[in-house]
Amino acid sequence: MSRPIRRRTRQVRVGPVLIGGDAPISVQGMIKTDTRDIPASLAQIEELARAGCQIVRVAVPDEAAAKALAELVKGSPLPVVADVHFSYRLALMAVEAGVAKLRINPGNIGARWKVKEVARAARERGIPIRIGVNSGSLERDLAGMPTAEAMVQSALRQVALLEDLGCSDLVVSLKASDVPTMVQAYRAFAVRSDVPLHLGVTEAGTRWRGSIRSAVGIGSLLLDGIGDTLRVSLTGETVEEIRVGREILAAVGLLAEAVTVVACPTCGRCQVNVAEIAAEVERRTSHLKGPLKVAVMGCAVNGPGEAREADVGVAGGRGAAVLFRRGERIRNLKEEEIVEALMQEIEALYRR
Ligand code: SF4
Repeated sequence: MSRPIRRRTRQVRVGPVLIGGDAPISVQGMIKTDTRDIPASLAQIEELARAGCQIVRVAVPDEAAAKALAELVKGSPLPVVADVHFSYRLALMAVEAGVAKLRINPGNIGARWKVKEVARAARERGIPIRIGVNSGSLERDLAGMPTAEAMVQSALRQVALLEDLGCSDLVVSLKASDVPTMVQAYRAFAVRSDVPLHLGVTEAGTRWRGSIRSAVGIGSLLLDGIGDTLRVSLTGETVEEIRVGREILAAVGLLAEAVTVVACPTCGRCQVNVAEIAAEVERRTSHLKGPLKVAVMGCAVNGPGEAREADVGVAGGRGAAVLFRRGERIRNLKEEEIVEALMQEIEALYRR
């Protein structure tokens, strides 16, 4: 598979995870629990980590949430990013609690001295700051510009401000709910700055629509070589965001360790339940680290070719299937044996 050539950015460290430079593109998640509910929040972070999330963000809406951060940082298997709006005090509390990164919008933190305080604290702790520009909350004086350009100007302005205050460990996001605007903004920023980029479509929507919109927006940029980390935002289950994020990376050839299940779309020739078999194998392999390609094909016409090319594959035939391993025909299976046989082969390949 050919891979996009990535734009070189400066590198920052978020706990053990590197963002930018030649670091692999990381997948981030955000918990949807009340930050103040420490057991529920830690349980969700664990769930995200199991799904392949590498960095977790938590909202810090008030002082009680900021006070919960120290416990979350202590119990979290993932580096924690504090998401703070409006209050420099909450940002300082988050830094003090030991978070691995801050997500702020300096434009809404207020006076320069407040931003300076936050920048100083982050610098002293050696933690990066993400400047989160959002198309819905741009500075008033940028209102006359086309939205994408206004977002870029806002980001460049805030980067300059933080650099002026001695903070160069920065990440920028330029999120919009309109996919072409978001793509345009990231492309325009990428040619003007080497600050690493956090990709995302904001308010992307429900699982179905949001996944498609995120795949189009984030995927386009990744194929351009733009992007150093990403978060898919979906209305619904948080773990789904990680699955979608990882799948976007895998689709553009940037997630070497993914298990890819390819399945035929089925047609009138189909002789086994491809949809059910593929979904079950996908579910049971989602925690595994690849690279491994599994093919589930419905018939003997086009099936054997694809199944042979995969690491493990089946080609269906009248309630039965032929099992292939790395191009070799292994044996015939009854339909009800397919999932278990595929899983045995996958696990055996993993143990090698
Ligand atoms: S592999 Fe067979 S069943 Fe599947 S879409 Fe192709 S021809 Fe149809």
